[in-house]
Amino acid sequence: MAKPIKETIVLGGGCFWCTEAVFKNVKGVLNVTPGYAGGHTKNPSYEEVCTETTGHAEVIKVEYNSALVTTENILKVFFASHDYTQLNRQGNDVGTQYRSIILYTTEEQKLLAEKFIKENPDAVTEINLLAKENEAGEFTIAEISHQDYFALHKTAPYCQVIIAPKIEKLQKEIAPLLWSTTLSSEQYHILRESGTEAPFTGKNIEAGTDGIYRCAGCKNELFEAGTKFDSNCGWPSFDKAIEGSVLLLEDNSLGMTRTEVRCAFCGSHLGHLFNDGPTSTGQRFCINAFGLE
Ligand SMILES: [Zn+2]
Repeated sequence: MAKPIKETIVLGGGCFWCTEAVFKNVKGVLNVTPGYAGGHTKNPSYEEVCTETTGHAEVIKVEYNSALVTTENILKVFFASHDYTQLNRQGNDVGTQYRSIILYTTEEQKLLAEKFIKENPDAVTEINLLAKENEAGEFTIAEISHQDYFALHKTAPYCQVIIAPKIEKLQKEIAPLLWSTTLSSEQYHILRESGTEAPFTGKNIEAGTDGIYRCAGCKNELFEAGTKFDSNCGWPSFDKAIEGSVLLLEDNSLGMTRTEVRCAFCGSHLGHLFNDGPTSTGQRFCINAFGLE
């Protein structure tokens, strides 16, 4: 499979709990990180941003594989997911931190954003170059309590009343661009919300006729059949991944430090890597069966 072409854009379209949930569902999005940008101080906190004195907007940093999703479609999702004609507010969320803003990193992103504004003169979206690291107004990652908010707080009133209907509406407007229309709910939970199937409950998986296990999201070739071993832990286990097929990230959730395994091509969560494997590699890729095919 071709190599991912990674691009970054920072988008503000109201509360970042919403925009994060929306963009995690977009095919080709590798990573979504809520944060603050577009202001004139460095490293602001949530409380400071809420005072509207730092000039920051609540934003998400979207890293995407432009071999899977075009920049044009990233912007299409962005404009479909918020009201770009509302100045400094989104619905009941009022304040400059909720303004519509695009911080681009490439000339193509800038031109496409400007084209949209030209065609939609009622848009109030700000377009700026993303400030470099260590400059005032650069992207600052939000506090941990604001990461993965929707996935972790689905029953909270704000999520049920504001975010869930927004996602449902989008589902109809831009269905072909979303994971939720092609994945089963179990697959969606694991691949896009970093879920884990209960041990011994995954579907039976077998390697393809070419002896390869693939990502259930994008069909990226992940593991060769010969690297699978019986670990008796309740999840498919492999002692080696195909070179370049997965990303390894530090995962500090659930009070543990683990190594998360994601598909390098579509960014989907697959499972975790442990260094207690019984074979010569010493590795145990513990992978959700619903993430594989
Ligand atoms: Zn994938």
